[in-house]
Amino acid sequence: MKKDIHPKYYANATATCACGAVFAVGSTEEKIDVEICSQCHPFYTGTDKVLDAAGRVEKFKSRVAAARPVKNKKEVKAEKRAHRRAPATVKKIAKKK
Ligand SMILES: [Zn+2]
Repeated sequence: MKKDIHPKYYANATATCACGAVFAVGSTEEKIDVEICSQCHPFYTGTDKVLDAAGRVEKFKSRVAAARPVKNKKEVKAEKRAHRRAPATVKKIAKKK
Protein backbone atom coordinates (compact mmCIF):
# COMPACT_ATOMS: atom_id res chain seq x y z
CA MET A 1 0.00 0.00 0.00
CA LYS A 2 1.13 3.51 -0.74
CA LYS A 3 1.81 5.64 2.36
CA ASP A 4 -0.43 8.51 3.53
CA ILE A 5 -3.22 8.03 0.99
CA HIS A 6 -5.36 5.39 2.71
CA PRO A 7 -7.96 6.18 5.38
CA LYS A 8 -7.76 4.49 8.79
CA TYR A 9 -9.29 1.03 8.68
CA TYR A 10 -11.39 -0.32 11.56
CA ALA A 11 -11.46 -4.11 11.40
CA ASN A 12 -14.12 -4.24 14.13
CA ALA A 13 -16.37 -1.31 13.35
CA THR A 14 -19.90 -1.52 14.71
CA ALA A 15 -22.89 -1.29 12.40
CA THR A 16 -26.13 -0.52 14.24
CA CYS A 17 -29.46 -1.11 12.55
CA ALA A 18 -32.69 0.77 13.19
CA CYS A 19 -34.19 -2.55 14.34
CA GLY A 20 -31.60 -2.79 17.11
CA ALA A 21 -29.28 -5.39 15.62
CA VAL A 22 -25.55 -4.72 16.01
CA PHE A 23 -22.91 -6.14 13.69
CA ALA A 24 -19.13 -6.10 13.62
CA VAL A 25 -17.84 -5.17 10.19
CA GLY A 26 -14.66 -3.91 8.62
CA SER A 27 -14.88 -0.26 7.63
CA THR A 28 -13.15 3.10 7.43
CA GLU A 29 -15.89 4.46 9.70
CA GLU A 30 -15.80 3.47 13.37
CA LYS A 31 -19.59 3.48 13.80
CA ILE A 32 -22.22 2.97 11.10
CA ASP A 33 -25.98 3.49 11.41
CA VAL A 34 -28.15 1.61 8.91
CA GLU A 35 -31.91 1.60 8.34
CA ILE A 36 -32.21 -2.03 7.37
CA CYS A 37 -30.19 -5.20 7.78
CA SER A 38 -30.41 -8.96 7.21
CA GLN A 39 -32.22 -9.33 10.57
CA CYS A 40 -35.15 -7.15 9.54
CA HIS A 41 -35.16 -6.99 5.71
CA PRO A 42 -38.28 -8.69 4.23
CA PHE A 43 -36.10 -10.59 1.78
CA TYR A 44 -34.42 -12.41 4.66
CA THR A 45 -37.30 -12.54 7.14
CA GLY A 46 -39.82 -13.74 4.55
CA THR A 47 -42.46 -11.22 5.58
CA ASP A 48 -44.02 -9.25 2.76
CA LYS A 49 -44.27 -5.71 4.00
CA VAL A 50 -44.46 -2.72 1.72
CA LEU A 51 -42.52 0.39 2.73
CA ASP A 52 -44.84 2.79 0.97
CA ALA A 53 -45.63 6.16 2.51
CA ALA A 54 -47.00 8.04 -0.49
CA GLY A 55 -49.50 5.38 -1.58
CA ARG A 56 -47.57 4.70 -4.76
CA VAL A 57 -48.33 0.97 -4.75
CA GLU A 58 -52.09 1.60 -4.52
CA LYS A 59 -51.78 4.24 -7.24
CA PHE A 60 -50.00 1.81 -9.52
CA LYS A 61 -52.50 -0.97 -8.85
CA SER A 62 -55.44 1.31 -9.63
CA ARG A 63 -53.75 2.42 -12.86
CA VAL A 64 -53.23 -1.19 -13.89
CA ALA A 65 -56.89 -1.95 -13.15
CA ALA A 66 -58.05 1.09 -15.13
CA ALA A 67 -55.89 0.34 -18.16
CA ARG A 68 -57.95 -0.93 -21.09
CA PRO A 69 -57.08 -4.42 -22.25
CA VAL A 70 -54.96 -4.78 -25.37
CA LYS A 71 -56.96 -5.66 -28.47
CA ASN A 72 -55.87 -8.70 -30.37
CA LYS A 73 -54.66 -8.39 -33.98
CA LYS A 74 -57.82 -9.87 -35.49
CA GLU A 75 -60.05 -7.28 -33.85
CA VAL A 76 -57.80 -4.40 -34.92
CA LYS A 77 -57.69 -5.67 -38.52
CA ALA A 78 -61.46 -6.11 -38.69
CA GLU A 79 -61.97 -2.60 -37.33
CA LYS A 80 -59.59 -1.07 -39.88
CA ARG A 81 -61.20 -2.99 -42.72
CA ALA A 82 -64.68 -1.84 -41.73
CA HIS A 83 -63.51 1.76 -41.53
CA ARG A 84 -61.80 1.56 -44.96
CA ARG A 85 -64.89 0.15 -46.67
CA ALA A 86 -67.29 2.74 -45.30
CA PRO A 87 -68.22 5.53 -47.69
CA ALA A 88 -66.91 9.08 -47.04
CA THR A 89 -70.23 10.30 -45.59
CA VAL A 90 -70.30 7.50 -43.05
CA LYS A 91 -66.72 8.31 -42.04
CA LYS A 92 -67.70 11.96 -41.48
CA ILE A 93 -70.62 10.95 -39.31
CA ALA A 94 -68.42 8.56 -37.36
CA LYS A 95 -65.85 11.29 -36.73
CA LYS A 96 -68.48 13.73 -35.44
CA LYS A 97 -69.59 11.23 -32.80
ZN1 LIG B 1 -32.25 -4.47 11.02
